[in-house]
Amino acid sequence: MSEAPRRIQVAATADRQFGTNSYLVVDEKTQDAVIIDAHLEPDLIVEQVRERGAAVRAILLTHTDVDHIGGLPRLRQEWPDIPIAVHDAERAVVTEGQPLRRQFPVEFPGFERVERLAEGETYRAGSLEFEVLHTPGHSPGGVSLKIGNALFTGDALFAGSIGRSDFHNSDGRLLLESIRSKLLAQPDDFIVFSGHGPVTTIGRERQTNPFLT
Ligand SMILES: [Zn+2]
Repeated sequence: MSEAPRRIQVAATADRQFGTNSYLVVDEKTQDAVIIDAHLEPDLIVEQVRERGAAVRAILLTHTDVDHIGGLPRLRQEWPDIPIAVHDAERAVVTEGQPLRRQFPVEFPGFERVERLAEGETYRAGSLEFEVLHTPGHSPGGVSLKIGNALFTGDALFAGSIGRSDFHNSDGRLLLESIRSKLLAQPDDFIVFSGHGPVTTIGRERQTNPFLT
């Protein structure tokens, strides 16, 4: 007999400076949870976790621009033992505090217990399982995370837009290729939770995103 599919809840907070979204993904049945990205007002995230009584099992990073990792020290202070997971191409940002972009320094020395998000692999955090899609272009180690019909796309895909590719380690053609081959390959009704801005769907972006039509 197969188990009924897990039901998850997704809740967002955003910091006021960059409008960067952090997501809390909770398994309704077990209360196991992950935090996706760590924006610059981490107290909002901590408060949200406390209100829901969720049990945080991991922090997953879609990429390591400062507005997506600035809250890590506070989150690690709150949950010292949980792993932080990131793609290998940006691992040194998290383990050594080596900045992703030349112009934006990283304000922490580096963390222990860093795990891998690798293309095609499943990342397990308690009862939650995420499929990892490598979606580089905005940054070399950009990933999108898929659970059920939810896609967390970081700064690859936004409602009506796509990520910047004018940094020294960005690649606009690669970004478009990532979006087409990994994200637009998903069904129309898949819900897109982006690094910035409102929720959208794959179908809506396929039809109306001016960068993709
Ligand atoms: Zn961003």
